[in-house]
Amino acid sequence: MGRLGRPIEVGGTSPQSIGWLSLRGFPMPNAEIVAIGSELLLGQIVDTNSPWMSQRLAQLGVNLYFKTIVGDNPIRMKEVLSRAMSRSDLVITSGGLGPTQADITREIIAQVVGRKLIRDPRLLAELDQRFRSRGFVMTPNNERQADIPEGAIPVSNPNGTAPSFIVETDKSAVFALPGVPFELKWLFDNELVPYIRKRFGISDVITYRVLKVAEIGESNVDHRIGHLIASSKNPTVGVLASPGQVDVRIAAKAATAAEAHTLIEPLELEIRRLLGRHVFAADSETMEDAVGKLLRQKDLTVASYEDLTYGMLAERLEQAGPAHFVEGLVGNGLTTAKRLLGHGRHPHRSEELMHRHAELADELAYAVRQQAGANLGLAVHALADPADTSENLARGETYISVTDGHKFHRRSYNSAGRGRPDRTRISLDALELLRVALIEGF
Ligand code: ATP
Repeated sequence: MGRLGRPIEVGGTSPQSIGWLSLRGFPMPNAEIVAIGSELLLGQIVDTNSPWMSQRLAQLGVNLYFKTIVGDNPIRMKEVLSRAMSRSDLVITSGGLGPTQADITREIIAQVVGRKLIRDPRLLAELDQRFRSRGFVMTPNNERQADIPEGAIPVSNPNGTAPSFIVETDKSAVFALPGVPFELKWLFDNELVPYIRKRFGISDVITYRVLKVAEIGESNVDHRIGHLIASSKNPTVGVLASPGQVDVRIAAKAATAAEAHTLIEPLELEIRRLLGRHVFAADSETMEDAVGKLLRQKDLTVASYEDLTYGMLAERLEQAGPAHFVEGLVGNGLTTAKRLLGHGRHPHRSEELMHRHAELADELAYAVRQQAGANLGLAVHALADPADTSENLARGETYISVTDGHKFHRRSYNSAGRGRPDRTRISLDALELLRVALIEGF
């Protein structure tokens, strides 16, 4: 699993949380999200609020240990909310604050904390004003929306009718947010974030820099920068491996983002020095972005041949630079390769080359460049062992070659498979070889 993107916690003795965002040494409150609504369980709408909030919480440095979806059922809602409040510092609910009979979040929270509902005069006045300004008269079920558990902190919702509220107990706090995404997001950023900062004493911001590494694996990365992973406190350094790629994440905590960047900078330079040309991009930049930039800078075109990756390489090249990608051939078995070699340097040696795979990759790169009239030819020729059905790092042989018609850059290794992780890795490795060739020249 390690190679398939499992978060990896490296270094330190007692990480405060499992997973990639845990920052050793930084105390973090534990939060839990409860998304409420039977329509979410039925699959009629997709819960987009929880992932959005998860990202925001991570940026704040708040641990998120549980997310639950529960329908509008009082017994099950009570069960979920009681458990959430007993184990988490902060419970954030989404939905069920509207005026209908199905909207029971406020009632259930009141029951869980053992308080009665009271009508909040300020919220009621705001609701009344909202209806009046639109020429409507408030009905009794709308008035219900001004009900909050006794002692709760009322929170106005300027974008909708369902107000929000916070209930605090000795152990925990519940922040009830409306389900409508734009209302929830506004309240999250403008009310919940300041509340979290104040309640949990979070005055700092956490800023990240992600360096993306190709060609060398996780253990090689660890060999080069392991001492920094183990010794760094602020910033901290962590790694995350996915097929063909290792992300090195440098995270710093400071009073402002600018100060955090200042902390990150020297460590980033040191890590870049140790990893050298293997760092292909940073933050949201992808391998395709990096290759596309170079193709444009150098004003070069490329054509490709691939087997086993079944078009993944062509797709990546198209994403990199549509105007610089002339043609992509996708072969299945060796029929396409044989035909292509008719355009190569040694058409009479086609039969013989079918058995000399490293040489064949060179010839395919040469031939595809030639017949497409491109500046560069990139070929991926890979053979999977039919007896190995692993999805990841299956036994086989991979040969990658890129040429300008005169010289070649090559890479080969002993693994190749039809599984998505293997095809992702092989096509990424091909782009990495092209990237290095574009930088180093031929
Ligand atoms: P309001 O009374 O303003 O509608 P509410 O708190 O009662 O707010 P719900 O009735 O639960 O919210 O949901 C209102 C709408 O918000 C839903 O019909 C749906 O479109 C959207 N919504 C609710 N929960 C989610 C969610 N978790 N993710 C994405 N959208 C959601």
